[in-house]
Amino acid sequence: MSDKPVFVTQPYLPPLEEFVPYLEQIWANKILTNGGPMHQQLEKELCAYLGVEHIALFNNGTIALLTALQALRVTGEVITTPYSFVATSHSLLWNGIKPVFVDIDSHTLNLDPAKIEAAITPQTTAIMPVHCYGNPCAVEAIQKIADNYNLRIIYDAAHAFGVKDSGGSILRYGDLSVLSFHATKVFNTFEGGAIICPDAKTKQRIDHLKNFGFVDEVTVVAPGINGKMSEVNAAFGLLQLKHIDRALARRREIDSIYREELRGIKGIRLIEEAGQLKANYSYFPVLVEADYPLSRDELYQRLKDKDVFARRYFYPLISEFPMYRGMVSAQRSNLPVSHSAAEKIICLPIYPDLSDESLHRITSILKEV
Ligand SMILES: *Cc1c(COP(=O)(O)O)cnc(C)c1O
Repeated sequence: MSDKPVFVTQPYLPPLEEFVPYLEQIWANKILTNGGPMHQQLEKELCAYLGVEHIALFNNGTIALLTALQALRVTGEVITTPYSFVATSHSLLWNGIKPVFVDIDSHTLNLDPAKIEAAITPQTTAIMPVHCYGNPCAVEAIQKIADNYNLRIIYDAAHAFGVKDSGGSILRYGDLSVLSFHATKVFNTFEGGAIICPDAKTKQRIDHLKNFGFVDEVTVVAPGINGKMSEVNAAFGLLQLKHIDRALARRREIDSIYREELRGIKGIRLIEEAGQLKANYSYFPVLVEADYPLSRDELYQRLKDKDVFARRYFYPLISEFPMYRGMVSAQRSNLPVSHSAAEKIICLPIYPDLSDESLHRITSILKEV
């Protein structure tokens, strides 16, 4: 039995020698950033892989979220989920926008469309939902509400790389979708991110905003930011893309082994897929219910004692952090499902290099209790 520590995720690194030719190319080009050839090539290949028409690459997902809000000139209040990584709401605060928290659905753990309307005020201008764990939101229902109230939709799609429904990429929904290519994500460029744009004009505006607002050498049209992805990051993305299908296939295998092994355990609830045609198996969340012999935190500790470092995504809720918890919508009574999920959730290790042996070690710990 191996006693190697197992973490919730581990970045997928192709063999180092495969990256050397990319670096040699950059050295030959002497172009390090500002939309160089690697950057252009990655945009092209990602559009083809994801099945989208326009993409703008970024240095990280958070700057991409900030810029998406700027691109659509979102102001006032934005409806969002407390059950996410803190960058979702932080991107609103950085733009001087007030987040309004709405509770989640107990099955998908995504924003509950039935609760959105009650949170809309004259100040509401947009909705920022999250495809949590890569499970698609109720995209049609959310679109209907946005249409009725003339609201924008920006999806935080940081978990949703490569996810498809029967009509194609789920990144096509809403006004904009934002990806993260952080080291911990399914597809990574060390640090990185992107905005999926509906048309060339929107992409052009976003490309200006991520380059200080420059449109040419002497013209600045907006107070833009530096959101550019470097050539080294883009090159690593090109290499990752060559391996992505194999990496996703292994994740899928791990997901199905977990499901098979854990399905029968009393008190362990699995989250069912939300009907997507193609999932990305980016996380393996389980809910520890009251009839399991250990509490969620006891299980978390039990795993830790055996060198398995699971993570409580998402606990605490965003609405519990000091810069949010005074808001009316952050009150516990407004978010019962989110609180319940945050208290039960634990994400088990899943990544392409996770061995069958480690997987067995993890499922055994859960079963032995
Ligand atoms: C990772 C993540 C982000 C932030 O992306 P970075 O690339 O790390 O800036 C935003 N939202 C969610 C839901 C995430 O998981």
